[in-house]
This record gives sequence, C-alpha cells and structure tokens, in this order.
Amino acid sequence: HVSVVLFTSDLRLHDHPPLRAALDSADAVVPLFVRDRAVAEAGFATPNRSAFLADCLADLDASLRERGGRLVVRSGDLVEEVCRAVTEADADEVHMSAEPSRFAALREERLRAALEADGRRLSVHDAVTAAVPPGEVTPAASDHFAVFTPYYRRWAQVRPRAVVAAPRRVPVPDRVKGEPLPARGEVAGVSPALPAGGESEGRKRVTAYWRRGLDAYDDTRDDLAADATSRLSAHLHFGVLSPVELVHRARRHGGPGAEAFVRQLAWRDFHRQVLAARPDAAHADYRTKHDRWRSERAAKADIEAWREGRTGYPVIDAAMRQLRHEGWMHNRARLLTACFLTKTLYVDWRIGAAHFLYWLVDGDVANNQLNWQWVAGTGADTRPNRVLNPVTQSKRYDPDGAYVRRWVPELDRVDAPAVHEPWKLPRADRAALDYPDPVIGLSDGLCRFRRARDLRN
Ligand code: FAD
Repeated sequence: HVSVVLFTSDLRLHDHPPLRAALDSADAVVPLFVRDRAVAEAGFATPNRSAFLADCLADLDASLRERGGRLVVRSGDLVEEVCRAVTEADADEVHMSAEPSRFAALREERLRAALEADGRRLSVHDAVTAAVPPGEVTPAASDHFAVFTPYYRRWAQVRPRAVVAAPRRVPVPDRVKGEPLPARGEVAGVSPALPAGGESEGRKRVTAYWRRGLDAYDDTRDDLAADATSRLSAHLHFGVLSPVELVHRARRHGGPGAEAFVRQLAWRDFHRQVLAARPDAAHADYRTKHDRWRSERAAKADIEAWREGRTGYPVIDAAMRQLRHEGWMHNRARLLTACFLTKTLYVDWRIGAAHFLYWLVDGDVANNQLNWQWVAGTGADTRPNRVLNPVTQSKRYDPDGAYVRRWVPELDRVDAPAVHEPWKLPRADRAALDYPDPVIGLSDGLCRFRRARDLRN
C-alpha cells in the first residue's frame, strides 16, 4: 500500500503533516516534486527563485536519502505527472498542502477530479504553509478579515496545531523513477548575492537568529543599515521552514522581540486569508478602486529610473539596487520604494509589483500583491492616503546614511545629512558627484497624488 506525497511550497521534512499522514497509513511513499510547466508559463519561475528552488530540492533529496528514501522530480503538467506517478507506484492516495491562490485552487480541483475518476483519493492538509489557515478565524459578517488589527486580535488567541516530528525513515519504492535534480549553477541571470536555500540552511538561520537577533527585533527591525531582520522570508515562501513551528518556537522564547516577530508572521497569514477569499486581489484593486494612474507610456522614463535605482532619491536608489543584487529588500525599503512609485511617481501598483515579483527570492503572490495594494491605498491600509516622504524616512531609518552609501557608491564620500538629499550640497560639490538629479520634485509628486485623491473623493 503506497501513497504519493506531492511537495509544493512545503519543501521540508520537519513539521510536514502530509508526509506524516502518508507514512502513518502506507507501507511506502513517493515524495514527488513536479516542476509545473504552468508556473514557468506564468512567468513565475524567475532566475532567483529557480536557483533557490534548486537548492531546496537538493537539500530535500539529501535528507530523504539519509532516511532511506529519495526525492522524485518530474517536469510537465502537474496533474498528468502526479497521475503518472500514482499509476507507476499503484498508489491509492495523494497527500498535499493547501495553498491560498486561485492558481493553486484550480490545480487542486483538476487533480482531485483526475484522481477520483481513477478511484484514488486526494488529501489536502491545512496549516502547513500558514500558521493559522485561511477561514479559521473570520469576523461575524464576512468570510475574511479586511483589516489587520482585529484579525491579529483573533489570530493571537489561536493555538496552532502541535509540531510534527521529522520522520526517521522514508521508504520509497524503486519502481518510480525521476529525472535529474535541477542545479543552481544551471540557472542564468541570478542576483550575485542570492542567499542559499534549503531546509538545513533555513534551520541554521533560525537557530542563529534566535541567538543573536530575535530579542532585539522590535527595536532594530526598521533600521535599514543594521539589517537586523530575520531574512527568513524566502525560506517561508518555499516552505523549508514551517510557520507553525516558528510561532511555537518564538512564543517559547518569549519577550518583546519574539512577540513582534510573531506579529509579522500574522501579517503573512492575514494576506493569505485575503487572497484565499478574494483571489482576484492578486490583480484587481482590493478595496478602493483606483484608475487614475499615469499611463505607462507617459511614465516610461520614471519607471525605468525607479527600476534601475537612479531616481536621484538616495534611499530609493539604494533599495532598488539592493533588490537586484540580493534578490531581497528590507521591509522598510519595500514600503518606501512602493510608496514612491505609486504616490510620488503616480504609477500603477501592478507595474511595481511585477518588477518585485521578478527579482524577489521571497516573491509571493499573497504577500507581494497585497503589500503593494496596502501601500498604494487600494488595499487593506486603514489610512490609504498616507505618503511616506523618502527624505524624512531616510533620515529616520538610516540616520548615518550607511545603508545609502552601501548601495550607492556614487555617494560614498557624502556624509549625513547631505547623503539623504545631495541636491542641497553646494553647487561645486554637487557637480562633482556622478549622481542624477531627482526625477521629480517631492512636492510635485505629492501634489499629483493629492489632486488625484481629491478627484477620487
Ligand atoms: P522579518 O522582519 O524578519 O519578518 C519575519 C517574517 O514575517 C518574514 O520572513 C515574513 O514571512 C513575515 N512578514 C514580515 N513582514 C510582513 C508583511 N508586511 N507582510 C507579510 N508577511 C510579512 N514578503 C514576502 O515574503 N514576499 C513578498 O513578495 C513580499 N513583497 C512585499 C512587497 C511590498 C511592497 C512590501 C511593503 C512588503 C513585502 N513583503 C513581502 C513583506 C516584507 O517586506 C518581507 O516579508 C520581509 O521584508 C522579509 O524579510 P525578513 O524575512 O527579514 O522579515
């Protein structure tokens, strides 16, 4: 009696309920990962995420081999490949994790229909890729929370399920063959400082962060230069770490740092429950409809300057360059760059979200699209007209200018406060810098935003 365990964004052995359930009910399992053609066709298999994924698959395979098994990797249409593996293994059940996007829901539906037509079962497990799954807490009059604070109040009262131990042995039948694992080195166009992926790497990072960063998280998480956040987002995106396990571990650790960290994990679940209830929020305005963005053609030069990190606003340029170099950007910098694009340059949030999704190794439909909407004022922010001024924010969150100088070497000899607004330097000093003038005056941008807002209201 054999079961297939379909791995998707849960590439780990620790705290993996589908694998546990399969091992409890079958004599052998087929741990399967399908490189889904549809993911590539949708433009989602970008170089950074493909490279990180290759690390995750290699690590998962190595951990399975230590337990007497191996990972079976196939490429093609996910439903066809799973059905083929099921037939080859003569399996009667497939176990997998629930995911909130429309893409995942449709895929699950097709898979269930195909398996059931052949007399097999699909078991979908909740609380694998979220600590508190969508739908578990809801307000009285709706299927999901549209505002974070009341959601968090309820979320914080839920005790996530117990952590499931990693299996000691994973017997895999010989008759099911896979293809060679993809290798990180085969992927072109990867960010030079992309971090390494995989469950072993993720778990090491958690241990190190719990020792050195977590207690100070609440005080340091907005400090751009200190770079003191956990950097666990990509590990969570690929599911090499379990959000359930992280919540338990952080609560056990205790203190204000751990509490603030757990609250950020709740933001992750918040966006997932919005997306699960309103899958169109991945593309369409979620709460406030907004259709007065500048046309892409009119804003072309500004958009290019933003993408390439040469807007003339040092903190914006630093952040946009960090994104390309590391495939990651600090949360405060994400807020500033997204706000600058939407509320100062007045460009549609979808254009910025697509650029982020291309480069971010943690690029995630729920987190990326809904955070963009939050910043753009079309989403869940209760203050949709808030505008973050890149100069004041830069002075507050990078007071010495160390973050700016790290990423914008043209300014490496400029001290604070001029490093935040180099246009204020004496004319000769300014002329000596090979650094652009601002693409837009701040008041122009703000005026444009306010004018449009007034038109809207
Ligand atoms: P930490 O500060 O250490 O936080 C711990 C974990 O909490 C993170 O790993 C993440 O899983 C979660 N988290 C933290 N902040 C948020 C948040 N605002 N929303 C949801 N979850 C959060 N995060 C992504 O994982 N993928 C994305 O594609 C993504 N796009 C974003 C786009 C914009 C415009 C903005 C403003 C934020 C975006 N975020 C995204 C949220 C956040 O910026 C990152 O999760 C965070 O910077 C990752 O770094 P970290 O792991 O060091 O975070």
